[in-house]
Amino acid sequence: MQALILSRLSPKQKRQLRLCLIASVMSGGAFATLGVVGSEAPQTTALSQSLKLGETNVVSLDDEDRGVFREERVLRGDTLATVLARLGVSDSQAFQYVRGHPDARALANNLRPGRALRAETDVDGTLVNLTYSLSPTESVTIARDGDTFSTSRAELQVERRVHMKSAEIRHSLFGAADAIGLPDSVTTQVAEIFSGDIDFYKDIRKGDRFRVVYEMLYHEGELVKAGRVLAAEFINNGKTFAAVWYDNPQDKEASGYYTPEGKNLRKAFLRSPLEFSRVTSGFGGRMHPIHNTWKQHKGVDYGAPSGTRIRATGDGVIDFVGKQGGYGNVVVVRHQGRYSTLYAHMSGFGPGIKKGARVSQGEPVGFVGQTGWATGPHLHYEFRVADAAVNPLTVTLPAALPLDARHLADFKAKGVPIATRMALLREQQAFGPVVALANFE
Ligand SMILES: [Zn+2]
Repeated sequence: MQALILSRLSPKQKRQLRLCLIASVMSGGAFATLGVVGSEAPQTTALSQSLKLGETNVVSLDDEDRGVFREERVLRGDTLATVLARLGVSDSQAFQYVRGHPDARALANNLRPGRALRAETDVDGTLVNLTYSLSPTESVTIARDGDTFSTSRAELQVERRVHMKSAEIRHSLFGAADAIGLPDSVTTQVAEIFSGDIDFYKDIRKGDRFRVVYEMLYHEGELVKAGRVLAAEFINNGKTFAAVWYDNPQDKEASGYYTPEGKNLRKAFLRSPLEFSRVTSGFGGRMHPIHNTWKQHKGVDYGAPSGTRIRATGDGVIDFVGKQGGYGNVVVVRHQGRYSTLYAHMSGFGPGIKKGARVSQGEPVGFVGQTGWATGPHLHYEFRVADAAVNPLTVTLPAALPLDARHLADFKAKGVPIATRMALLREQQAFGPVVALANFE
């Protein structure tokens, strides 16, 4: 069928066809194995669609008679050599370049089953160009120019759509998120955004509610992945916390989440040293069997699976790494002012964690274990002010810097449409799955 169609085409039409196939490759359009010479898998649907496009959308092409196009998916066990062979590439120079050149190696090292590779070759198998999807949003292209090669990367054109949802928590944050079909990455972002104010392990109550405005990324109408949270509101134990994303491309430092009034949500300390995730969410609130209350042992215990990452709750310098009797493996971090934090019972320490090393908030200092006096894997966490332990769940933490005046005006201008959406969402009487699709950028 394919040969039949091709034989009916004039040389000019064939060139047009090739051109629109190039366009199709560049736009990420799906087509497979198609060439001027015969091929085993005719794709007549793709061909006729391309022809229609070609009639309205043609630029003249140079007269060089090149161009066999093929697309293959990476199969389990494929190597660069096997996949190039299937693509009809018979070109040792190209093979050496893709395998060995630092720019091109990203392709050879990231062959993942199911991902598409597209090649254009001359009729004798000499590579013209090769394109591979490194990720759902990034592609890499290797092109031959005479005897040399070049590598370029391109971001896929994605369309951002804004979604809004709200939910009430009955059992757990992830349970509520599942009920409204909220992607996990959005749920964890919500937990991260409010992690300076809310300890998602211990503070979440039945009846807590949240609303979230977030981006979903689409490519040619297909969902690629969930994007960034643009605004969120969390009502915890009757108290409302709100956040709006502020993006300032000229000043990355200022970009972040702020309250609608411009107060920074990033605090000097996180409420919990453990990252909140689907895996660890089921462990919330469980008390350690040996120490039942905070008073008995000057700290807070977090039951969590062995190996869970433990984060420094604030910027600081490592003051102690090693064993300390019943505490097992311990890290102590000294922070600005009179603050220090202690993390105990670790199975191991984070990379580069040694006395005197600087750590940033959120950086892993170690992993949950049960070394020392512990009957199960858990983290024992202490928060000290002037070397005296205080309850980290209730202590008033030092406030972070607000947005300065010159950013504040910009922030207020950008935040208005999002605040409007949030207000709209708030008017919805019933909590539950509320979805509104709109672009308001
Ligand atoms: Zn303990």
